[in-house]
Amino acid sequence: MLALLPVTVWLVTTFWHEAKLIDITEDGRNKLELYRSNLQGAIKEHEYLPITLASDKRIIDLAIHADPVIAKAVNIYLEKLAADSGASDIYFMDQNGDTLAASNWNSDASFIGRNFSFRPYFQQAKSGLTGHYFAFGITSNVPGYYISHPVRPDGTSFAGAVVVKTHLETLVQRWARGSESVLVTDQNGVVIISSNLDWRFRDLAGLSNNDRPRLIASRKYGDYPLEPMPLLDGAWPVDDNPAILSLGPVASEDEARTANEQATGKVQTRQTTPDKTTYLVTASTLPKQGWRMFLLTDKSVLDRSVISAGAMGGAAHIILTGLIFIILQRRRAMLEQLEIRDWSQRELERQVRLRTTDLMNTNQRLAEEITERSRTEDALRTAQAELVQTSKLAALGQMSAGIAHEINQPLTAIRNYAENAMKFIARDNKETANRNLQRISELTDRMGRITGNLKTFSRRPEQDNHPVDVPAQMQMAIDLAIESGRAGVENITLHQHGDVKHVIAEANQLTQVFTNLINNAADACQNMANPEIDIAITGGEDRVIVKVNDNGHGILPDNLPKLFDPFFTTKPFGDGLGLGLSICYGIIRSFGGTLRAENRPQGGASFIVELRYDGPGDTEPKNSISTPAFTAAKTPSETRTYLANHHDQG
Ligand code: ADP
Repeated sequence: MLALLPVTVWLVTTFWHEAKLIDITEDGRNKLELYRSNLQGAIKEHEYLPITLASDKRIIDLAIHADPVIAKAVNIYLEKLAADSGASDIYFMDQNGDTLAASNWNSDASFIGRNFSFRPYFQQAKSGLTGHYFAFGITSNVPGYYISHPVRPDGTSFAGAVVVKTHLETLVQRWARGSESVLVTDQNGVVIISSNLDWRFRDLAGLSNNDRPRLIASRKYGDYPLEPMPLLDGAWPVDDNPAILSLGPVASEDEARTANEQATGKVQTRQTTPDKTTYLVTASTLPKQGWRMFLLTDKSVLDRSVISAGAMGGAAHIILTGLIFIILQRRRAMLEQLEIRDWSQRELERQVRLRTTDLMNTNQRLAEEITERSRTEDALRTAQAELVQTSKLAALGQMSAGIAHEINQPLTAIRNYAENAMKFIARDNKETANRNLQRISELTDRMGRITGNLKTFSRRPEQDNHPVDVPAQMQMAIDLAIESGRAGVENITLHQHGDVKHVIAEANQLTQVFTNLINNAADACQNMANPEIDIAITGGEDRVIVKVNDNGHGILPDNLPKLFDPFFTTKPFGDGLGLGLSICYGIIRSFGGTLRAENRPQGGASFIVELRYDGPGDTEPKNSISTPAFTAAKTPSETRTYLANHHDQG
């Protein structure tokens, strides 16, 4: 668009030039018409005077009689008339052209006595017409417009002419004050009236070499040398069409005249007129006088206007370009924004799709995992059920084997003793038979103990738990052990540390546990030189810890994991069933406590019972066996313990 700027400027200037030219031409025509009527008005102002005077009685008398007395009266009359009408001069010439009366009779340059018969206006009047003529005055050397009219006393014969001279100076001065340049040329093409005084009496038409000296000699234009108008470019319009022409500077009127007078010794000063001025010229003709009238409008006005229009057109073009640029920029920015928004939207949708796919995949995976997990759980449950079943059978088998083993031996022994007793009775060996019967009785005692133990084992644990004083129960167990007269229980020491509170338990069962532990300790250290059983009850923050320590043979590391298994025993046949610790373990678990065993660094074993207080914040229920001992069990030993404790519950 910026590249098109010269085109716009060219178009605007061309268009404006044409439009303005038409405007100026039109305006010029109107003004010219005004000037024309102005000039004609000035001429007409005095045109009536010679006509009226030609029929005036005093003039006619003078024409007939040529009487100096009448002439004197006419002089006074004409003087007054000139003063009143504003005419320059009014005078009367007889048929020979001699001036008989004049308004300026009293001045030095009086026309009286002078002959102007050579003047065309006289010739025109003589031929019966109203004469019109522009020329410099012969006497006055002042240019003027002459209007003449014939005096015909009898209506036909020429007896003289009345002439009115008007110098049109007022008009010229008025025109000079105006802003336009106006000039009027006569039939010879010489400028006779001009708003620019320097142009006056210059040759506009280009006088021929013959005419110029003749006209100069005629003094029609006074002393003016009839210099040509300084036309540089173009031509004067010959018809009413406008023309463009350029004029150069001219020497001032005085200088021109001085030059004509050959007074060239003086230093000539040039007027500060521009070197070249271009004008738009409109012309008009005054047919009556045969004159041409020209109105010159300085073309720089047009040029300035065209330049302004061009500049404005250019500025408008640049502003429009800027606006279009801004609009396009904004549109592009908007489109970009829309594109970014679209892209963001698409990206968001893509992300959402991706995320959704991810989530769906994750969901799928989770669903698969859940299915897998439930499958695994099912498998685990089945495995557990199988394990329980297997364990039940194993425990049952183990227990049956143990019981069979324990019962079979005494039974075999009883049968042998009974058979022998019968033989001894038959032989009448009563003493031996009695001994055998005694043995049978002992063996049945032993069998009774076994079944008694089994009864304890199978007995359903008491559900009636209460707060139990741990040291008191321990003391009861110690007393029972001592009373039983069991070997190795002589040196039992009971210590108590800290604040031992009550625990929720079943008192008899707790005593049974303590008794069992004491008996085991006594068994372990009965062959020692100084058997010692050391019992410590410690009250902790939230639990009571009971330690039964001995200085016995200790526990083989291999046996440590098997201690609490049912029927595990290291004792010789007949001394232990291997059910004691297993039962104790189940009881302590049913109180929500723990039972464990370890070897002491100084030798001997230590059995540790931990029981929780039944205080606030202790949420684990201890007054029942609802604690799922089976699920809490971690080892097969524990599982077996549970089974041992709950076999009657299915
Ligand atoms: P039993 O006393 O009938 O053998 P238990 O279940 O009470 O049955 O004990 C199992 C085994 O634990 C014992 O045979 C013994 O080897 C071991 N044991 C128990 N208490 C002690 C102890 N204080 N020191 C060493 N070993 C022990």
